[in-house]
Amino acid sequence: MKELLLNVLFKHSHCIWFAAVLLIFSFSCKNTDQNKPPQTLVLKNVQVISMVSDQVELNQCVVIKGKYIMYVGSCDDAEYPKNAEVLDAKGKYLIPGLCDMHMHIDHPDVLKVNLAYGVTTVMNYRGLPEHLILRQRAEQNEIFSPHIYTTGDYMEGYPATVPGFLSFDNADEARLAVREQKEKGYDFIKVYRNLDTIMHQVICDEAAKNDLTVVGHLSPDISLEQSLAAGQKVIAHTEELMYHFNNENDTTQITELIQLLKKYQATYTPNLTIFRSLFLQVENLDSINQQDYLKYLQPAIFQSWRRRYNYNHFRGMMWAKFMRARFNFLRAVTQQIKAADIPILTSTDAPTSGAFPGIAVHNELREFVEIGFTPYEALKTATVAPGEFIKQYVKDADHFGQVKAGYRADLLLLDANPLENIENTRSISSVIKNGVYYSRDSTDKVLNHLQHLYEDVDQIVRAIETEISNENIDAAKRLLTEAKNKYPEQTFMGYYTMWYAGYRFLYDDRALTENPEQADLALKFYQLYLSEYPKMHGSHYLVGMAYKAKKDTLNAIKAFETSLSFHPFNPYARNQLKQLKREVEE
Ligand SMILES: [Zn+2]
Repeated sequence: MKELLLNVLFKHSHCIWFAAVLLIFSFSCKNTDQNKPPQTLVLKNVQVISMVSDQVELNQCVVIKGKYIMYVGSCDDAEYPKNAEVLDAKGKYLIPGLCDMHMHIDHPDVLKVNLAYGVTTVMNYRGLPEHLILRQRAEQNEIFSPHIYTTGDYMEGYPATVPGFLSFDNADEARLAVREQKEKGYDFIKVYRNLDTIMHQVICDEAAKNDLTVVGHLSPDISLEQSLAAGQKVIAHTEELMYHFNNENDTTQITELIQLLKKYQATYTPNLTIFRSLFLQVENLDSINQQDYLKYLQPAIFQSWRRRYNYNHFRGMMWAKFMRARFNFLRAVTQQIKAADIPILTSTDAPTSGAFPGIAVHNELREFVEIGFTPYEALKTATVAPGEFIKQYVKDADHFGQVKAGYRADLLLLDANPLENIENTRSISSVIKNGVYYSRDSTDKVLNHLQHLYEDVDQIVRAIETEISNENIDAAKRLLTEAKNKYPEQTFMGYYTMWYAGYRFLYDDRALTENPEQADLALKFYQLYLSEYPKMHGSHYLVGMAYKAKKDTLNAIKAFETSLSFHPFNPYARNQLKQLKREVEE
């Protein structure tokens, strides 16, 4: 009863509590070097959900030194220096920070949103050179960001799902690319959907030789067993398991599926939240796009969620109905995979339309509890299991995902017990990442800043969009130039949305346009696009295609050559180049 009273008291005394925390910190700051983070942080009288077991340990002391937890146990036995920051966390629940094991750093701001919502570790599923820099800066606490693990860029076959992916038509070159990703320091190799058996095998083989693990999508052309036997350890989406089933009604195949996952020690990442959002985007797009926290989503990313560019939305009610049925089947599959004790990782695919960064992790936990996981089992998929997965596959990785001495100090203080109700993971009172304490006040400030900034950025994104649809590319360019001067760190054109938005100029019924005016527009448009994505081989390729439509062969050759300087094996650019050079010679 006393505890309950305290809980109630705390619920209504946030401000007092935060004021106290601020006081503690401002007081101690006077005594220590301002530029150095506190050496030792002590959480006193806290209820610990260590995730070592499903027990709540009452009135514990947790001592954090630098980025590691040094001690978890009775406050009577806790030892720490006199100048340690001591935080009375009475009434709060301490859990390991949450992990999102499949997300995309489509803009660096999504990292901020993740950490503000209690996600202290992410795994990025499309790695680009700038993500390696972000990874390092996040490790050094130079940016407000979760820890980052990252795959390399998509390894994709030819033809590719999107020509902007890292596509290959030659096995030796795919091997070279794997070695290159290793040298650059990516943590995993990511395979995409259009690989054939041989190419998939070659990539897995080269990855194994280089001590890298392959994760990613299943290809419809390769059997599940072939994928797993080749060495792929993660299947990125639950719906891809459908390639394995003859139909939804054949439940006998589930047993076989589980045997395969066990035999090859594969890890399963269900991605239920984004699956649910697929049919919701058709049935009721507003239910997704009018959620309050979308004000924290970078507007160029949100572009692909909005009706205008939302490709899921237009798939129709029949499709939605079919997907809804399939969703229910795959939830049942997920239940059985859990029952079979196959490791499951929380993963969201955010910020792909329908999965909001950070919040999607909490939503995924809700999905798991809805299909019968206990809150403890659900929490494991976002804490213990990711920690074990990374420890197993990333060389020299820290231990994390449990509240335990020797583990990384990535922690959440919650107002309420998540083992009683999984929704309580959202009652975040403060976040600790790498031993650095962020009060709820400070994480709210980060979000408020983004909201404020995005109100303006969103207007610019929409204004550019309008100019483009009115074919005023010069006006769009003026807007973009102004915007870039004002907000150099922001993006105003979505990578995928605008990739396709230019097709209306570039192509007539799938063939390259013959109309010179349209080709002009295509060139102007993709030059604009290139100014947003100057380091992507795909942008240069598109500019090359626009020059080709204009019959400006020399400039087209130049653009394809530049594209190849970013992805030397790109069959798209290479084939175009071959053809054009032949034409020049003739
Ligand atoms: Zn993804």
